[in-house]
Amino acid sequence: MSSLLVDNIGELVTNDPSAGGQRPLGVRRDAALLVEEGRVAWLGPARDAPAADRRIDAEGAAVLPGFVDSHAHLVFAGDRAAEFAARMAGQPYTGGGIRTTVGATRAASDDELRATVRRLRGEAMRQGTTTMEIKSGYGLTVADEARSLRIAAEVSEETTFLGAHVVPAEYADRPDDYVGLVCGPMLAAAAPHARWIDVFCERGAFDVDHARAILACGQAVGLGVRVHANQLGPGPGVQLGVELGAASVDHCTHLTDADVDALAGSTTTEWLSGPPTNTVATLLPGAEFSTRSPYPDARRLLDAGVTVALATDCNPGSSYTSSMPFCVALAVREMGMTPAEAVWAATAGGARALRRDDVGVLRPGARADLMILDAPSHLHLAYRPGVPLIREVLHNGVPQCRP
Ligand SMILES: [Zn+2]
Repeated sequence: MSSLLVDNIGELVTNDPSAGGQRPLGVRRDAALLVEEGRVAWLGPARDAPAADRRIDAEGAAVLPGFVDSHAHLVFAGDRAAEFAARMAGQPYTGGGIRTTVGATRAASDDELRATVRRLRGEAMRQGTTTMEIKSGYGLTVADEARSLRIAAEVSEETTFLGAHVVPAEYADRPDDYVGLVCGPMLAAAAPHARWIDVFCERGAFDVDHARAILACGQAVGLGVRVHANQLGPGPGVQLGVELGAASVDHCTHLTDADVDALAGSTTTEWLSGPPTNTVATLLPGAEFSTRSPYPDARRLLDAGVTVALATDCNPGSSYTSSMPFCVALAVREMGMTPAEAVWAATAGGARALRRDDVGVLRPGARADLMILDAPSHLHLAYRPGVPLIREVLHNGVPQCRP
């Protein structure tokens, strides 16, 4: 059995409060971490480090759990740079451009879609993302949704069926029929390749009755629930998600007090005292950046006791970034989060949004998914925005940047 020691760590962010240090990050100083069989086998003071077959010298830098990006749309074709430019010249974002991508995606070959997914997954990995949820949602036919999820499942175990992204043009006059298709043959073809089901519950997409029906069909075949909610305006999506026990409601840009109360009331378990079962609020600041919209109020959610995650929403229309460090920097600068809160939300928060307790945390038994920064502290992720600070990434204990 081959072992790997990451030694000479100046600051080790564990996200494990039992490790000591300040909440929520559980920081250790002058630490080392041993990897065996893709898992963390030991961590502790560098002076107590056991022998290992191989060694990576962190040279006093910070080591963090890999980012858990719990919201991304990577299976698509085409480019919407012109739409972005038009928005920056003053046109509002309505979500209507999704249909542009649907046309390009349907016309693409499997290999073209696969190449895009792998390119973006690699791009994210090099920026520290070791777990990445991937949604379908640009096929919107039985065959195209199934192949989107099949291709996504080649690179991620966190795949989400988003047949209810928008009503495709050919069903524009009969949305009830499209909901029937999603709940029937499309779900049957998609479910074998998906862990989750998601709905875009928003004016212009799916109303609350359609959204509830679709999510219930998914739950009935064993899929976990996630919701795109309250992005473009106030609406029923957040409370629907809480009602159905969703792992996460995503966007949460326009919230009423009742929405915040519902999310806060869903909080039931303390971190690591059992599998988290509450509904996480996943904030996607790349979307507000790319649509020049007001950011969600993370401070309000945190002060109410809501569990907050950060994710990229990587997609070709409203947020074409795969960079979790960029989202951390935005959350700190624009959304009232401290650097520690933002780093936690981008790692442990994302893990909670996916109901995972083996990633987003570094403790014995957890996956050896981590990043070594070219910086002495996690603070630099927000303090030095736009700078490539990720020196090395370990995924299942395997170095990704300098193998
Ligand atoms: Zn999205």
